[in-house]
Amino acid sequence: LPVHEAVLGEAARYGDAPALVDGVTGESLSYRELIAAVGRTAAGLAEAGVRQGDVVALHSPNSIVYPVALYGCSRAGATVTTVSSLATPEELATQLRDSGARWILTASALLPVSLAAVAQLADPQIREVILLDTPAAPPAPAADAAAAPTLRTLADLLASTAPEPVVTIEPGVDLAVLPYSSGTTGLPKGVMLTHRSVATNLAQVQAVHPTEPGERLIAVLPFFHIYGLCALLHRPLRAGATVVVLPRFDLEQFLRTLQDQRIEGVLVAPPIVLALAKHPLVDSFDLSSVRYVLSAAAPLDADLAAACAARLGLPTVHQGYGMTELSPATHLVPLDDPEPSPGAVGRLIASTELRVLSVDDPGRDLGVGESGEILIRGPQVMKGYFGRPGDTDAMIDAEGWLHTGDIGRMDERGYLHIVDRVKELIKYKGYQVAPAELEALLLTHPQIADAAVVGVTDEDGTERPKAFVVRAPGSGLTEPEVIEFVAARVAPYKKVRAVDFLTAVPKSASGKILRRELRGR
Ligand code: ATP
Ligand code: MG
Repeated sequence: LPVHEAVLGEAARYGDAPALVDGVTGESLSYRELIAAVGRTAAGLAEAGVRQGDVVALHSPNSIVYPVALYGCSRAGATVTTVSSLATPEELATQLRDSGARWILTASALLPVSLAAVAQLADPQIREVILLDTPAAPPAPAADAAAAPTLRTLADLLASTAPEPVVTIEPGVDLAVLPYSSGTTGLPKGVMLTHRSVATNLAQVQAVHPTEPGERLIAVLPFFHIYGLCALLHRPLRAGATVVVLPRFDLEQFLRTLQDQRIEGVLVAPPIVLALAKHPLVDSFDLSSVRYVLSAAAPLDADLAAACAARLGLPTVHQGYGMTELSPATHLVPLDDPEPSPGAVGRLIASTELRVLSVDDPGRDLGVGESGEILIRGPQVMKGYFGRPGDTDAMIDAEGWLHTGDIGRMDERGYLHIVDRVKELIKYKGYQVAPAELEALLLTHPQIADAAVVGVTDEDGTERPKAFVVRAPGSGLTEPEVIEFVAARVAPYKKVRAVDFLTAVPKSASGKILRRELRGR
């Protein structure tokens, strides 16, 4: 089925139950209202000229109308390319050019970024910019009014009296979404995900991590990233759950929303698990409604997970593993798993194959307990990188195996443990040091609030681990103390050789440490 049908095809039976609630204003959309709005939006888009196969850029922070735009585009046969709401005009222009988008759906707060990006494009590529909200004041006319795209609002689309467009989607061929990878290790690349790969993954994940009708989830992770898109829109809306939406992460607002909205499902990335485990503010809120915490998108240390679980009175913090190129999930700790392996990202989901391949001895398959590169084959593997056949061939081999670039190992009980990315490993005199391991160790220090480790190359050409540390409030921790703390706990080749103190570790919107940025300092 096309994704919008897989998600909303049977949603009518949830009727007046709330599908989405704005965690700030309390505004909500029932399932009935959502379905009606999606239909009108599709009609309005078709009337505006959107045709099957067109690419529409969705450039907005989380809001309750985000899925109206998303599924409206899908229903009109368009492919949505989701754009980070933190993108600069340059980054947006790059994605618009690369994806060939002809429409932009945005929010009035981001309109200046959208217009600046449009102005950077050589061709009059963008036909229209559509605002998802109604601006308080009418937007100022563009300097070059003739070259500026037409501007209208979602309200205009919703008012359309045109019939809904009739499109025939081929789920195995047509693209549901064209998200861009996070750009952690290089430039973000457009990832072609068909309706079939996304819809299949929804079912694969639901089988081990079921969302219940009426379940209340918090959506603070961005919808533009594949994790938020699938885990916080597609899956809950398909299940008849209620998604409480926050436009950005603010710890106090997040905690208050968990409490006041009686949130049960908390799907987040490691920085929020860190806050839940360590931040003093957490004790001021009643978080007893929370039934589970799921962490994915970046390495999570077992001790930190245990500290978070203990503080919330949960048996464990569940993990999941995936990547944009995998629609996105391949591993999850099943929700009803009585005794998951500490630190594991989960078990392989149905209809998916895995290999662990030696990094030192390319081509050799490894067994239980041995660390190597994770390869995945299954229906959730992307069609390829958009417009980059060379990159696609470097990622997916002739037999259909996707080379993840992540190092991991299987344990005796069939759980996968992620060690780090191949690209992030620090090569110190022939040894390999995983930054994630040192970061996890640093976080166990009571005076360390956050930490990141990168390899820095010295004049002699040797790469050495360097730590960037955020001190806990009031701490006077010094460089020698940090070096000594690590040295007492790891093999000599893993020692941290230098320390810098920061006020915050730079992280992407999807929760990943921006090591490239740290290396540049
Ligand atoms: P780019 O590919 O553009 O450099 P990216 O790989 O960060 O960016 P995403 O697709 O958002 O883009 O992230 C996928 C990556 O996130 C995985 O390859 C893996 O390194 C990491 N990841 C996801 N889940 C986990 C997890 N549970 N534990 C450790 N790492 C994880
Ligand atoms: Mg990647």
